[in-house]
Amino acid sequence: MRAMVQTNDAARVDAVWLNARLATLVQDRPGLGIVESGALAARDGKIVFAGPGDELPSWSRAAERLVDCEGRWITPALIDCHTHLVYGGDRAHEFELRLAGATYEQIAREGGGILSTVRATRAASEDELMRSALRRLDALIAEGVGTVEVKSGYGLQLAAERKSLTVTRQLAQHRDVTLRATFLGAHALPPEFADKREAYVDYVADTMIPKLASEGLIDAVDGFCERIAFTRDEVARVFAAAQQVGLPVKLHADQLSNSGGAALAAKFGALSADHLEYADEDGLAAMAKAGVVAVLLPGAYYVLKERHAPPVDLMRKHRLPIAVATDSNPGTSPMTSILLALNMAATLFGLTVDECLAGATRNAAHALGLAGEIGTLEVGKWADLAIWDIERPAELVYRLGFNPLHARVWRGR
Ligand SMILES: [Zn+2]
Repeated sequence: MRAMVQTNDAARVDAVWLNARLATLVQDRPGLGIVESGALAARDGKIVFAGPGDELPSWSRAAERLVDCEGRWITPALIDCHTHLVYGGDRAHEFELRLAGATYEQIAREGGGILSTVRATRAASEDELMRSALRRLDALIAEGVGTVEVKSGYGLQLAAERKSLTVTRQLAQHRDVTLRATFLGAHALPPEFADKREAYVDYVADTMIPKLASEGLIDAVDGFCERIAFTRDEVARVFAAAQQVGLPVKLHADQLSNSGGAALAAKFGALSADHLEYADEDGLAAMAKAGVVAVLLPGAYYVLKERHAPPVDLMRKHRLPIAVATDSNPGTSPMTSILLALNMAATLFGLTVDECLAGATRNAAHALGLAGEIGTLEVGKWADLAIWDIERPAELVYRLGFNPLHARVWRGR
């Protein structure tokens, strides 16, 4: 058998997973694209076969590593496509204040909220940011996550934004995980620009974006379009600057009010518009037309005790791809469990099991512009896998606080 592989290097295979049930999540298959009695083979970190075990090419059996999955389920490694994982301090005290009756907006207007994390992040060293972010990242990885998006936006000045983004790049060197760095300079108005909104937006668009992009620190640009953050015109200015340096955009849209964020995201061909509790049908239709993914963040909805759920029925009507993410951040979603996010998306927003699982795999990959590389079990994609001790995929959504991960594979390892 060994000899046969040596005579045909193109057929060399590094690892094969046998006797598995696959939820491939392949787009054109119904539901989860399930393959019972499946097998998967990888070479150089990429999938070279994913399908019925009895169709596994015979050369695959000569793989260096044969893994008997004993009937376990394999899904694509999960993807958390919206986090704010790198920050200083925490906001446990504000949690106490909110429990005592203060609203998110009141806290924000009094210099708390995002700005208290800005102070802590500016004061933190790279090492401190790294250490605290690693613990949160490890919690995600432990649940089978293979790709995490991390937004900046707690520095709000060039040096501090660079520090956060550098830490995000360094995190990828410490763990077997893919990280995407998104620049969120238009997250909040920093105190030193309190009376100079326009000057700050100029600073984001004309200084920070070109500089940080030229340093290779950002993969996308995000903005917070909301009455307590930035207007549509201000975000449009930031997005135009992103497009000038060839970076895709994403948007925190229509979370607390209908700010026209969905339509704005569509206008700029954003990768995703996120939150969308108050998005209207015109905005969602425009998103669908422009291929913008709707990212739902039930953690923030839960923490803020919101009552206005995102219009999931309209999203379905317009066939919007829906993703689900943790929004892991110190204020409104101090959550580091993608499985809990899926449960909340089902319980609070009414997503089906299939929608939840597509939301943390295939559609999350789309939301990061990585649909060609990850998110489904398909030949040519990275062999990023999650192997689960479950009887049916619904268990990944159904349980609270239980982690049935058996093993995680990142790039074939
Ligand atoms: Zn967010």
